[in-house]
Order: sequence, then C-alpha cells, then structure tokens
Amino acid sequence: MPAHAKEFFEANLDEIISDIRELVTCESPSNDPEALLKCSRLIESIVEKRLSTKAEKVEVKGKSPILVFRFPGNTNSMPALLLTHYDTVHSMGVINEFPFSYKSGILQGPGVFDMKTGLVQGIWALKYLWDNGLITRPVILMSTPDEETGSKGSRKTIEEIAGQCEYAVVLEASAEGMIKTGRKGTGRFTVKVVGKAAHAGLEPEKGINSIEEMSHIVLELQKLNDNKEGTTVNVGTIHGGTTSNVVPAEAEITVDIRVWSLEEAQRITSVFNSLKPANKNARISVTGEFDRPPMISSEKTRKLVDVIKEISFEMGKKLEDTSVGGASDGNLVAPLGVPVIDGFGAVGGGAHSRSEWVDVSEIPFRAALLARVVTQI
Ligand SMILES: [Zn+2]
Repeated sequence: MPAHAKEFFEANLDEIISDIRELVTCESPSNDPEALLKCSRLIESIVEKRLSTKAEKVEVKGKSPILVFRFPGNTNSMPALLLTHYDTVHSMGVINEFPFSYKSGILQGPGVFDMKTGLVQGIWALKYLWDNGLITRPVILMSTPDEETGSKGSRKTIEEIAGQCEYAVVLEASAEGMIKTGRKGTGRFTVKVVGKAAHAGLEPEKGINSIEEMSHIVLELQKLNDNKEGTTVNVGTIHGGTTSNVVPAEAEITVDIRVWSLEEAQRITSVFNSLKPANKNARISVTGEFDRPPMISSEKTRKLVDVIKEISFEMGKKLEDTSVGGASDGNLVAPLGVPVIDGFGAVGGGAHSRSEWVDVSEIPFRAALLARVVTQI
C-alpha cells in the first residue's frame, strides 16, 4: 500500500501549505467564540473542498461547535479517531505582529505548530486515502474549540466518540519529531484567603492579614513538589491587599499542578482540601480540580507504538516516542482504555510562543505515515 503516498504529498505541498496559511491566518483564540466560529467554518469549507464531506456539529456552550467528520470504511470494524483542536493560545490580533510566513522551508504564525499544521496533515492524509479508496477501517476526524483551556466543553463528546473507537491518534505537535505516549495529568486550583481590613498604623491588631496567611499556604504548597514522582506544583499568580497602610483583607493565588499518577493527584488534592489558616479567624476557600488525568501508556498502546515504529522504519525513518509534562485531549482518551498515540502532528517547535515554527520538509512524511497507519492498523 501507499508506496506513493509521500510523493503524493510532495506533489501537493503548495496546496497543503495554502490550506495551512488560510487556517493560521484565521485567528482562533480559545476565548473568542466569534473568531472560533469563523475558524470552524473555514475548516468545514476546507474539508468540503478536499474530501466532499460535511461536518456533524456538536454545540459547546459559550464556544463554537465541535466538528466531527465521518469517513465510512468498507469493514464493520471500530473506527480510528484522529483528534485535533482548532483553538490556539494566542490572543486576537497577534497575527499583526506575528503573521503567517513561509521562508527557507519554515512556516511560522500563531497556532501553526500547535496544531493547525497537524490538522491539515490529517485532512490531506484522509484525502489521499479517500481519493484512492484506501479507507478500510472507518475513520473519524474530530476538531474541538477548547483544548487550550482544558476541554471543559468538549470532554463529554471526546469521551463518547473515543470510547467507540479502536484507537486514537492525536495530531498535536510532536516533541522534536517524537510521538508522545505519556503525558502528565494537570490540575488548576485557586486559593482565596479572607482576613479583615484595619488601619495599619492605628489598630492593626483588629485586622487579619490575609497576605500573611497566604504566605504560609504558598510555602506549604510549594513543598509538595516532588522530583522523584515528577510532580510539579507552581503557585503561578498572587494578588492581595489594596494599599500599604491597610491590613489586607483578601488575597488569592492560582496554582498549576502536574502529576504522573492518580495517587499523586489524590495526595495533592487532599492537601488543598485540608488547608487551615494559622489565624483561626481567617477563612480559606479552594476551587479547582484535576481537569485532565495522566495519560499513561497501556499495554495496548505500547503494542500500537511498536507497529507504528515498524511502519515508519519501513518507510525509511526511525520514529521515537517520549513522555511529556504538557497535557492534551489524549489525556481524556487514555483512561477509557482506548490506545492513544499523541504528538502525531507537525515537526517544529516553539509551541505557545511567538516563535512557533514548522519544518515543511517533514510534512509529506508525517502525512504519509499517518495515511499508512490508518490503513494498516
Ligand atoms: Zn495543542
């Protein structure tokens, strides 16, 4: 099978890049429903043009819809899922300072690496298979609008659809070309302390200093970092007080947590739930949760990885896999017991920054590898 796949993508590289250009130029910050809607319509029109297939749309409150494209195979086997998201971390207007560019074999622009190129590679891999009648196992291509903000609105749909699939391939950015088979679970918490305001000079004893209270909490939380377990706890923001001559009544922190195991998630959560003020008259409230469980590679995933590595080797490239600290929608699929391979998208770097880039020379191989995986597995 598709011995000529790579040649097909090489021959169509200009068209592929033109789809990427259009998609990157259509900005889609996670918090801008109008922009997201525009971007979702663009994806629909690209898929319609390349694959003559219409989207099923699943509405997400306060966002734009999840797009689901179904490609029936010629067998009754369970589908393969290609999972993507079309939101980016970049705010609206970034395109003016960081426009799409294509120079010396490198693409740049907001979202080009995470993960609009991956999405276009998926569309073109399917186009190759579809045009040549090579889709045996049914394939579902799915694109969500809220991955960068924790997939709260998409989670249920992802779990429902992925749960009916044989395996999932997440077309997220690769790790220097490596696919990702493990991802940490992530949690985000907010801690608020309410003390009592008082004049800092006249009667400070009548106040309760919320910043002092919060200082104990910050130190306690930072101590939860555990190198050996790979657990990171980062108090990332702190706000409190009004002015220097008032005992501060309120203080607030936000905390990012990443863990390799559910046990660690439980350990950290229980600390948050049992935070106690040093001054018993201060009040502490905690909100937040682990929004994504760790993605731990199962036996089934390991087997899938081995087959993919073999295919890649046959195609002339050694493929490696790795584990990373960043979470993705792959974290939602793994606990369902469905094998999941992540980081199957673009080769490049600089995710989430204004120096995101993609190596164009890798696009034909990545698309061809995906095409082959979907037909052979
Ligand atoms: Zn992403």
